[in-house]
Amino acid sequence: MKETKKILVLGCNFAGLTVSRYLHKELEKAAEITVIDRKNYINFIPNIPIEVFNNHNPEDTMEFPFQKHLKSDGSSFIQAEVENIDADNKTVYFTPNEREGSAQESMTYDYLVIAIGCKLAFDEIEGFAEFGHTFSDTFYGNKVRNYLHNEYKGGHIAIGSDRFIQGQSPKLPKMPTALAACEGPTVELAFSLADWLEKHKKGNAKNITLFTPGEVIAEDAGERILGELLPMVSGMGYGYKKGTVGIKRLTKDAIEFKDGTSLEAEMKIIFPNWEPHSFMKGLPFVDDQGFVVTDLHMRNPDYPEIFAVGDAAAVTIPKLGSLGHTECEIASKVIAKDILGNTEEIKPLHQMVICFGDLGNQKGFYMHTDEWYGGNTSILKMGYTPYILKMGFKTMYETLGGKIPSWGMPISEIVGDHTII
Ligand SMILES: Cc1cc2nc3c(=O)[nH]c(=O)nc-3n(C[C@H](O)[C@H](O)[C@H](O)COP(=O)(O)OP(=O)(O)OC[C@H]3O[C@@H](n4cnc5c(N)ncnc54)[C@H](O)[C@@H]3O)c2cc1C
Repeated sequence: MKETKKILVLGCNFAGLTVSRYLHKELEKAAEITVIDRKNYINFIPNIPIEVFNNHNPEDTMEFPFQKHLKSDGSSFIQAEVENIDADNKTVYFTPNEREGSAQESMTYDYLVIAIGCKLAFDEIEGFAEFGHTFSDTFYGNKVRNYLHNEYKGGHIAIGSDRFIQGQSPKLPKMPTALAACEGPTVELAFSLADWLEKHKKGNAKNITLFTPGEVIAEDAGERILGELLPMVSGMGYGYKKGTVGIKRLTKDAIEFKDGTSLEAEMKIIFPNWEPHSFMKGLPFVDDQGFVVTDLHMRNPDYPEIFAVGDAAAVTIPKLGSLGHTECEIASKVIAKDILGNTEEIKPLHQMVICFGDLGNQKGFYMHTDEWYGGNTSILKMGYTPYILKMGFKTMYETLGGKIPSWGMPISEIVGDHTII
């Protein structure tokens, strides 16, 4: 009988939970799966803005426990802080974090899947804690909810990103360079916030300026979609500022940019640099920033037992959950093929942007494009169906514990691509 392989998954938000569940589906009893995360619930980030605009504390609605799903698969969970990876000795070091004072532990693996996302570097933006807002977790979601619903004076609102530093490595597949980590949320927020301002009689799109460190906002949407989107944005009265290079500091009334310019704003809604966790930097399987180097089958070329999925992987550009989802399907199939010795051909990652965004007023947008990566797909739809799909995805993800059925993504694409609005 074949020896049971030990698979260790680091991180258990979108990518970690999904890959753990897919690994179990592929391997059943042929592998012993252990998952480590510092928290024991999923943070459902993409829907935080919708909760904020509806004046719900996202802590109550956007965090859900995942342990029952891992248990039902027979996978183990350890709540701990991952602190180091010794790739040569196939060992991970971690400290349990239920109570302060735990001693550091270690665990060996046959396969390691890194799904620990990134540090969102708000701490590197001077003035963010006093003067900044964002929607990237439930704490900040609740803080911005309180400000909008109780303190907002009707002043100007700036929404945009700090400069993203994409990693480089000669071992990475060829990819375009992103100057912002993820600008879909920026554009989505601009639309849904304008709707909220109108509904609450506090203004409209003219209150909002979008800014970007790049030459154009949401470059990864590709030229054809931007050709539709940008005239719409200016027609609605939004301000637009490009080429800021990055954020220098936030003050009470303004954002100062690295290109020497500034923007006056009562509210500064910021998406920071997505930076690898500090313990990842300098490890022998990462790029010059600390993102895990993989091929398009999500496997590291030097340590073939190491895989990465989601935001921690260097090939996840932009940092988008839908790319991470496809990577989880691929990585779990590749590991299963190694272990079970089957002959299934597994297609490599086809990088593309698939995004469902909220436009406010129960409408949404759907974007499906690979133009930025050199492909020909470019679809943009707006209306009620994309909003229903966005809300439906959250319900499906929560109910199924991240184990989206194989028809889940394709059917969303078919409905999205062929919706007539
Ligand atoms: C406001 C906003 C809206 C978005 N909207 C969309 C959208 O509509 N569609 C879309 O596709 N994407 C969207 N994204 C991007 C999406 O949220 C991310 O791509 C996704 O969360 C990445 O998932 P992940 O599991 O790789 O990383 P994360 O979600 O960051 O999860 C990493 C996990 O690892 C754990 N972890 C980290 N370090 C350690 C450690 N040292 N020890 C133990 N555990 C650790 C964390 O606790 C966490 O559970 C949005 C992002 C934001 C900020």
